[in-house]
Amino acid sequence: MKKEEMLIHDFDLGLICDYFGRLERQGPGSRESTIRALSFIDNISSELRIADLGCGTGGQTMVLAQNTKGTIIGLDISPDFIEKLNKNAEKLGLQNRVKGIVGSMDNLPFQKEEFDIIWSEGAIAIIGFEKGLNYWRDFLKKDGYIAITYESWFTNERPAEIEKFWVDSVPEMNTVGHNISTMQKAGYSFVAAFALPEKCWTNNYFIPQKAIQKAFLQEHFENKSAKAFVEYMNYEAELYSKYKQYYGYVFYIGRKI
Ligand code: SAM
Repeated sequence: MKKEEMLIHDFDLGLICDYFGRLERQGPGSRESTIRALSFIDNISSELRIADLGCGTGGQTMVLAQNTKGTIIGLDISPDFIEKLNKNAEKLGLQNRVKGIVGSMDNLPFQKEEFDIIWSEGAIAIIGFEKGLNYWRDFLKKDGYIAITYESWFTNERPAEIEKFWVDSVPEMNTVGHNISTMQKAGYSFVAAFALPEKCWTNNYFIPQKAIQKAFLQEHFENKSAKAFVEYMNYEAELYSKYKQYYGYVFYIGRKI
């Protein structure tokens, strides 16, 4: 199959988790961006309850723990990622405030109005932007904050090649203005939005992948799907360097009304 015809949904979840479990982060982002998003939130020095949905191995979860006094529950569908997150929390001496649990973001095992903050980096597209904002809102206290990164268009029009790649994997993908309006319609007041800097994609996402691809391919020797997956990820990196002015991840921060 040609690389332009491959879809992320075609690959086995176990294979994807094996690949991304070798990395500190499973999506674009950075310590600085997580801290910047936190800077828009009041009272982070009190004992907040925070949920980090689609937390992966916990790159941003540890940053949240190190920069707040809160208790953080990281939730992810992958038991391997959660095991890594809990081990990392222990290594950093954060196990009393950080707990990873296996679960699904569309069926949360929490009480209504349990959290002061709902965090989610690079994961809301899985449930859908609008659906996630609406469903997760119930679990926030009044005046609680939502802080999420989401794939967003920076221009009203873009070349067909990049439009196809992203709409195939995130059909709901839209412009920043539209996404802010969706957040407001879901019952949040707008607090802030900013685009993740380029190095969140290059230094923290694409370059670390290069370092693990050789070992991944050796371990999956003769697995055509593993080879195709690496090609797909390299195609994503190639498209980013070609079209980065048209799209990126945007941090959206809102407050429950
Ligand atoms: N937040 C992490 C980061 O930025 O490094 C991980 C982002 S990664 C792009 C998306 C994460 O969502 C993965 O860890 C994946 O296992 C998780 N995921 C996929 N489907 C999920 C679901 N239904 N519920 C919870 N997590 C899910």
